[in-house]
Amino acid sequence: MEKIDITVVGAGIIGLAVAYELSKDYKDIFIIEKNSSFGQETSSRNSEVIHAGIYYPKDSLKTKTCIEGRHLLYEFCEKNDIPHKKIGKLIVAIDKMSSEI
Ligand SMILES: Cc1cc2nc3c(=O)[nH]c(=O)nc-3n(C[C@H](O)[C@H](O)[C@H](O)COP(=O)(O)OP(=O)(O)OC[C@H]3O[C@@H](n4cnc5c(N)ncnc54)[C@H](O)[C@@H]3O)c2cc1C
Repeated sequence: MEKIDITVVGAGIIGLAVAYELSKDYKDIFIIEKNSSFGQETSSRNSEVIHAGIYYPKDSLKTKTCIEGRHLLYEFCEKNDIPHKKIGKLIVAIDKMSSEI
């Protein structure tokens, strides 16, 4: 029977990113996808925002990983000539409570 190092199930952004990272250390990686091509589900139907990490509780793991991921994503886009825009975001508080969330 043929042997491979790693099998990743699902060729959305997570499966592809995991396979990409693992490919630095492993030679044979199989990605199994139920559709005929990659990125046919949630990963191709999102809002295309690179999140800043402002919506999660301060100092939470989500905030930390979101901020780290944002930096890595901009770096990856620049290194690989992937078009993107850093347009910023204006958040307006409509009352005291919403400004504290
Ligand atoms: C409306 C919406 C807007 C969003 N906007 C943003 C945004 O602006 N910015 C942002 O960062 N994130 C956004 N997200 C979140 C982001 O899109 C998802 O977190 C991300 O795409 C999830 O990627 P995934 O690889 O986990 O899932 P998917 O892209 O769904 O990939 C999973 C893959 O696994 C395959 N699969 C599943 N089961 C099997 C099986 N048994 N065998 C083989 N293949 C299988 C599927 O076919 C699919 O290709 C948004 C999400 C939604 C729903």
